[in-house]
Amino acid sequence: MTDTLPPLRDVIARHGLLADKSLGQHFLLDLNLTARIARAAGDLSTGTTIEIGPGPGGLTRSLLAEGAKVIAIEKDARCRGILAEIAAAYPGQLDIVEGDALKIDVATLGDAPRRVVANLPYNVGTELLLRWLENARAFESFTLMFQTEVAARITAPADTGAYGRLSIMTQWLCETELLFHISPKAFTPPPQVQSTVVRLTPRPDPIPARRETLERVTASAFGQRRKMLRQSLRAVAPNADAEGLCRATGVDPTARAETLSVEQFCALANAVDAKKA
Ligand code: SAM
Repeated sequence: MTDTLPPLRDVIARHGLLADKSLGQHFLLDLNLTARIARAAGDLSTGTTIEIGPGPGGLTRSLLAEGAKVIAIEKDARCRGILAEIAAAYPGQLDIVEGDALKIDVATLGDAPRRVVANLPYNVGTELLLRWLENARAFESFTLMFQTEVAARITAPADTGAYGRLSIMTQWLCETELLFHISPKAFTPPPQVQSTVVRLTPRPDPIPARRETLERVTASAFGQRRKMLRQSLRAVAPNADAEGLCRATGVDPTARAETLSVEQFCALANAVDAKKA
């Protein structure tokens, strides 16, 4: 379904909205592309679709056209007028929250099921994702655009160059899929890098582990990525007991961090906690 709103370029020109780099503004004006992202998010007809950074509202329009009830959080007050016009074209479907998404607990917005769909501002994208993951099961899914290098880290399997802390903290809690790439040319203004859309689906039964400990273990292991675990894990296993920690969990102490599965990192985190208890 397409709406009867004027073309995005005309709307942006009429409102004089110039992209502000400090807010990570790179606008998608091709409504075929925004429709593709909206469709990738699955069935939007129930619950609440939360969009971060609607900007001039290209993706917002596509989400609304798919029948979503959208709560959109935008920091830039200059977008207010454009977004109000979109809300008027879709009565009762769009609520706009003006504010900083880093300061808003989106896990309680609107009715469940909740999903987040966003072309994220690159400067805060990873930080936002890690916050949402603290309450991952409050969400049905996340369909997010990141710069390709970050999308690769989120979805990387073990034993690859991109595999690291972000892969483990995400894959521990969610199934991750890399969906499709978007060329810099599709954006106004074009960013320096390619972008990629990923979908994360929270797992109903993630492996039990304490987040803080898992964060410490992965930070320690990947902080010295090239070193063997018996050395790189010393920070979390005082008294030089890193080797014992590995042996207790069936992990080879001479292995390097990037070869370990998410399950093995969870086992290490649980062993660290068991030692403290
Ligand atoms: N969704 C639009 C699109 O696809 O064309 C704009 C995407 S642009 C990459 C990122 C948007 O996030 C901008 O509109 C920017 O103002 C907004 N933004 C940046 N930081 C934000 C924050 N902390 N909270 C909410 N919105 C933010």
